[in-house]
Amino acid sequence: MTTFYILTLFPEMVLDGLHTSIIGRAVKNEHLRIEAVNIRDFTTNKHGKVDDYPYGGGAGMVMQAQPIYDAYQSIVARIEKRPRTIYLTPKGETFSQTKARKLAQEENIVFLCGHYEGVDERVLEEIVTDYVSIGDYVLTGGELPAMVMIDAISRMVPGVLSNQESGETETFHNYLLEYPQYSRPEEWMGRKVPEVLLSGHHKNIEKWRLEQSIRLTKENRPDLYEKYKEQEGD
Ligand code: SAM
Repeated sequence: MTTFYILTLFPEMVLDGLHTSIIGRAVKNEHLRIEAVNIRDFTTNKHGKVDDYPYGGGAGMVMQAQPIYDAYQSIVARIEKRPRTIYLTPKGETFSQTKARKLAQEENIVFLCGHYEGVDERVLEEIVTDYVSIGDYVLTGGELPAMVMIDAISRMVPGVLSNQESGETETFHNYLLEYPQYSRPEEWMGRKVPEVLLSGHHKNIEKWRLEQSIRLTKENRPDLYEKYKEQEGD
């Protein structure tokens, strides 16, 4: 079973967010385990402090190495090996569907959520295997990025999606964005469902969907479209 460990100062935030809908169902059905480890539980500071001023001056506070390292070691002691450990940071490699698919093959993944101005570099050097960003903007903490990553990775873990929810024809599959989707009624506010989707002619439907995917990718993501063309040998 895939287990996600989240090193955080706000365990309730990640657990509340992840124990709902499809991911919540996957936890219930034992396809996944999600555990939040509260970094504050590991501080040796008698006031429960986990951060301090940055050496060299500057704005904000920095999360200290000791409680993070001890929280991480509490996981290592239980699983008896050093797990893949991701530090969520805007300085990292940008997260992608390809990375989600690869990470879904890991048995244990630790996510370290920073806060304030970030984390003491020395503990990062000691425990982190991957530095990952979810996009070019700065958030207040690593909890939302960890939740984003866990959601995307979980969908690639066998058994998490039912057949009906299959991730195989989705956006980013083959470098294409997904075609438009329609459901009942056939006409809404004067807008009709494209005729071909009502025809029952599977080959024509497939052809229409591919054309739509190509059109959307060309319009919205020319960078992906170039990769699609390369893959198709154009
Ligand atoms: N001072 C840091 C910098 O300039 O790179 C930013 C710190 S940010 C306010 C606090 C924490 O939020 C970071 O330590 C990181 O864990 C998380 N974070 C913020 N933006 C993120 C992003 N785009 N991707 C992943 N994590 C992010």
